[in-house]
Amino acid sequence: MKRIGLVSILIVALMGAPVAMTQAPAGAARVVAVKAGRVLDVRTGKYAANQIIWIEGERIKEIGDAAALESRLPKDARAVDLSSSTVLPGLIDCHTHLTMSPMSIGPAGLRMSYPRQALMGARNARVTLEAGFTTVRNVGGAGYADIALRDAINAGDVRGPRMQASGPPLSITGGHGDQNFLAPQWNAMTDGVADGVAGVTAKVRENIKFGADVIKFMATGGVLSEGDNPALAQYSEEEMKAIVDAAHGLGRKVAAHAHGALGIKFAVLAGVDSIEHGSFINDEDIRLMKEHGTYLVPTLYLSDWFMENYKALGLSEGIIAKARVVMPAARENVGHAFHEGVKAAFGTDAAVYPHGLNAHEFAVMVKLGLTPLQAIQSSTVNAADLLGWSDRVGTLEAGKFADLVAVDGDPLADVSLLENVKVVIKGGEIVKQ
Ligand SMILES: [Zn+2]
Repeated sequence: MKRIGLVSILIVALMGAPVAMTQAPAGAARVVAVKAGRVLDVRTGKYAANQIIWIEGERIKEIGDAAALESRLPKDARAVDLSSSTVLPGLIDCHTHLTMSPMSIGPAGLRMSYPRQALMGARNARVTLEAGFTTVRNVGGAGYADIALRDAINAGDVRGPRMQASGPPLSITGGHGDQNFLAPQWNAMTDGVADGVAGVTAKVRENIKFGADVIKFMATGGVLSEGDNPALAQYSEEEMKAIVDAAHGLGRKVAAHAHGALGIKFAVLAGVDSIEHGSFINDEDIRLMKEHGTYLVPTLYLSDWFMENYKALGLSEGIIAKARVVMPAARENVGHAFHEGVKAAFGTDAAVYPHGLNAHEFAVMVKLGLTPLQAIQSSTVNAADLLGWSDRVGTLEAGKFADLVAVDGDPLADVSLLENVKVVIKGGEIVKQ
């Protein structure tokens, strides 16, 4: 009986520990006063000139008119002068693979151990943060390397964005997430492979057991995988429903990789929180997504980089042929979905191209019909909503994490300015200046 009592106390203590949050420094909180030339309210698109962002510890204590706030600041406050810059909330990328890179996609990845992937992730996390992305949702990392990376960032061992991590993405046998580059005698499959209602339910529970904040699954075939078709659904409606039920029941959101229209439909009807890529999204999908409030996380810039650089990646003719069909179709169909008013959350699939170029996605979104403000909203308020983190990131408001970026000029006139952020602050700490 005593042992059971001790175990339950331990379980309660562990459950009480905050998931994926950094710890506040002990003792008196450090005060930073950021003097901003202007601050963008990402909800309204309005600028407020000459503001002070009063940061205590890792959170914003107050934000307002510089003249009114200045006299009340503590004497030992550290001043950060951004009086000639435009300040925005830290950016959020809802689709990263920090433990992967262009040199580890396709068959090349077979040579890279999970520990090596995690260490590469430490580098990619720093680069992503310095590019202005203070929060990411990492949707797919083999061997739980992404979860190890998240924990290392939270412990302060390595520098990187706040992370939600999925661990290995669920895939059918032979699907987009399986290892189809190998001959049968190697008898290997990736760690996210699961089939059938019982199989996927167990896999979701296993991913959560090992630390997943979010569940990712492959609802259709993919481009950078061998021998599968991105236009076809992978998983049945019943399996998708089982994945979503198991995940939601345990308080985790669900992201579905989906190119083909039928896979998108099955996933939306199953209740996923976001459709990733959405390359062949059609009018029925659009209608259902608006009805269910499902986010679309398009990943569009990658095709520009891929078409220029694929020759260096050693990919098969089959993969390249798929890319030539899917990538231009995605531009057209996602543009149509934007026009029809589907909710968009910003995502890049960085890893298919070098990490740190994430902000190149903004200009493509604008080219396909979003206003610069809508594109910025997709990476701030909308992304925070998709992550379930609206209480901590996505806007600059008292009580939220002091995550911000500064650019020179007006990003509402030229959204590509976000490709060159001058200053990045995460949790009140300057990570780039
Ligand atoms: Zn991806």
